[in-house]
Amino acid sequence: MSHHDERTFVMVKPDGVQRGLIGEIVGRLEDKGLKMVGGKFMQIDEALAHEHYGEHEDKPFFEGLVEFITSGPVFAMVWEGADATRQVRQMMGATDAKEAAPGTIRGDLGNDLGHNVIHGSDHEDEGANEREIALFFDEDELVDWDADAATWVYEDA
Ligand code: GDP
Ligand code: MG
Repeated sequence: MSHHDERTFVMVKPDGVQRGLIGEIVGRLEDKGLKMVGGKFMQIDEALAHEHYGEHEDKPFFEGLVEFITSGPVFAMVWEGADATRQVRQMMGATDAKEAAPGTIRGDLGNDLGHNVIHGSDHEDEGANEREIALFFDEDELVDWDADAATWVYEDA
């Protein structure tokens, strides 16, 4: 089932954790048929924040973004599935939760640009998913398992 095994990095941000939305967000990804292969409840330090959001270091919102993402625990995850990176971005909705479409995670659960409850690797940034996975997880923290339901999620599993 090699073409169902794309991995992507997903994170419930500090606002999502504080608001008790971990279960809701995990549930939505499970319901879609994606498979969790790694999960870690953790606190991001300054150095990791700078590395993770390095692409934004010249933006005016960078310091605020680092302060926010280090302000409380996050739930970092790796999810696997066909076209998983793009699938998760579609489910997340637009960056500004005020503008995100109803039905999306940000559209349903958020109301702000900075506080937008979830991070997912950018599918338009080639290799971002693998880079972010490697930044947050050691290979031995990822679990290789077969989800029995996959045969009912994918026609060709
Ligand atoms: P994402 O990939 O959809 O999360 O969006 P980006 O990679 O463009 O930005 C990363 C994160 O920085 C977003 O999720 C927002 O929380 C935050 N962010 C992006 N643009 C702005 C901005 O203009 N102002 C503020 N305050 N935060 C922003
Ligand atoms: Mg991004």
